Amino acid sequence: MTTSPDIIAAGFDTLGLAQPLLKALADVGYETPSPIQAACIPVLLAGHDLLGEAQTGTGKTAAFALPLLQKIDLKRAVPQALILTPTRELAIQVAEALQKYAHHMPGFHVLPIYGGQSMVVQLRALSRGTHVIVGTPGRVMDHLERKSLVLNNLSMLVLDEADEMLRMGFIDDVKWILEHTPATRQTALFSATMPDAIRRVAHQHLREPQEIKIRSATSTVVATSQSYCQTHSGQKLEALTRILEVEDDFDAALIFVRTKTATVELADKLEARGYSVAALNGDLTQGLREQVIERLKAGTIDIVVATDVAARGLDVARVSHVINYDVPYDTEAYVHRIGRTGRAGRTGRAILFLAPREMHMLKAIERATRQKITALTMPTPGEVANRRVAQFTQQVVDIIKTEKLDFFFDVVRRMEGEQDIAAREIAAALAWLATRERPLQMPGANDHAPRDAVAVSPAPTFTRDTERKPAKAGAKPAESYPTAEPRRERPAKESRDGTPAKPRSFAAGALQRYRIEIGRNQGVLPKEIVGAIANECGIEGKNIGQINLFDDYSSVELPADLPADLMDVLRRIRVRQFALKARVMEPGEFVDTRPPRRAPPARDAKKPDRKKPDGAKPVWKKREH
Ligand code: AMP
Repeated sequence: MTTSPDIIAAGFDTLGLAQPLLKALADVGYETPSPIQAACIPVLLAGHDLLGEAQTGTGKTAAFALPLLQKIDLKRAVPQALILTPTRELAIQVAEALQKYAHHMPGFHVLPIYGGQSMVVQLRALSRGTHVIVGTPGRVMDHLERKSLVLNNLSMLVLDEADEMLRMGFIDDVKWILEHTPATRQTALFSATMPDAIRRVAHQHLREPQEIKIRSATSTVVATSQSYCQTHSGQKLEALTRILEVEDDFDAALIFVRTKTATVELADKLEARGYSVAALNGDLTQGLREQVIERLKAGTIDIVVATDVAARGLDVARVSHVINYDVPYDTEAYVHRIGRTGRAGRTGRAILFLAPREMHMLKAIERATRQKITALTMPTPGEVANRRVAQFTQQVVDIIKTEKLDFFFDVVRRMEGEQDIAAREIAAALAWLATRERPLQMPGANDHAPRDAVAVSPAPTFTRDTERKPAKAGAKPAESYPTAEPRRERPAKESRDGTPAKPRSFAAGALQRYRIEIGRNQGVLPKEIVGAIANECGIEGKNIGQINLFDDYSSVELPADLPADLMDVLRRIRVRQFALKARVMEPGEFVDTRPPRRAPPARDAKKPDRKKPDGAKPVWKKREH
């Protein structure tokens, strides 16, 4: 059995899912089932075994999770379903997805168990009772052998990413587990590819499985040049706005995301950055949808952020760019999306954002479109600045050509005479005024400044509160995280007469942690924070200590008790267009969630897991020297 997007126009409510699940899907903003979901959900609900060929990104997790949840008897807190995954990361991810979809199923429990995590913790959790186990094969086997996990009541078993389990050498463990579960269970096996070894497992352990495979039709796309940009999710927004700035022949863009919620969120973020933009999703009435499309046609908006379904059939000739902000479920969805540009005989441009784990999509799309997709790197702040300067120059040249400026010549002449300032200075001040809302320079634009433009500071002399001894000159901090920044990232700010602003000096003393309202999600780099603070406040790099990036904020060590005027500047400095709004962190506010320096070796997992106390994901970066 194969499926294609043409058969998925219907919503989740046609698949036989129960109300609590439909409600949870509405909460997370899923609009329509992905092809694999539309095909798998009814089959699994009907109780058949299933062999699914699907990769990450196709929505396969919900494809098995939703029917699985529907079959759970909440009154019995015993493992009724087991999901085996190759890695602990995937186990956690799947458990989180189940929790999300079970939001309206009170009392539901899912437990991830994987190697590397304390046995004691897992034994305690298992003894409390759970409805679903998501685990890596090695650890599940351990528990079965110890009898701490009993699967007598198991009615459903899912093998997720079976080919990965094979590749990682777990296939014998998987077979052993299959043999130690009730033969009456329903089994679903998902795999990105179907090597013979996996087919053999399916043949032996699945009962008349229904085979579901997403068909990858090839189609030729003409008149659209395609690129991809590999980027982590935290940097996508920054990458998008920079790309939009430097793209040639930009007229209008259609940006695709996966959920209704994401259309609104991204549209809001782009609007805050000065774009004329609207969201287009299935929650809008037909009338409102048509209005959005009319506004795009008329040029009152330039960007529409849409879901696949809402943008189906959209035909607006001025759409010069299609941006796949979230990767599509399959190659056919991709082809549909990029078909929204290159209309009416024009050439179009398609840009695809891919996280490193989504890179497998690239080859599939190249095959499907029979075209090479070229790599695009995120434009540097310098490149964006150059583009802004070029556009500004063009505006000035056009105004000189087209406008009557006699009155303004007189104004400038009077300024020159009365204030004794040169026309060049007046022009520079006016350029500053004219671009205040959208500065020509971006933070970090001078990252590649010649060496002689860079000030070198001596080693740090500050201590962090009372706990650290003064560092020796030139010594590295105790951790591999920064305490000193010998290089100034941006040249010192110049005063009007061209002399650099004087750096403020501080006596050696304690450093204090300050909280600033920009973090990983805004794509900030530690060096940008240092550059901005050094530049705007005149605090030298040597007086700037450790910087820790969290999702939506960061902490930075600066001299304790900064004078009020500096605090004022520090609050107002903008980095990547976000005001830092700096304030001193309260004692205990900073939670050091750094990973243990040496993680215990794990039997069946690749990377150590870190539990974050408050859900924040810190990134520990070494500042570049
Ligand atoms: P998966 O292939 O299961 O790893 O899913 C990839 C991503 O797609 C996840 O972030 C899901 O939250 C998202 N997703 C899955 N199904 C849908 C859907 N029907 N609509 C929108 N997003 C979805």
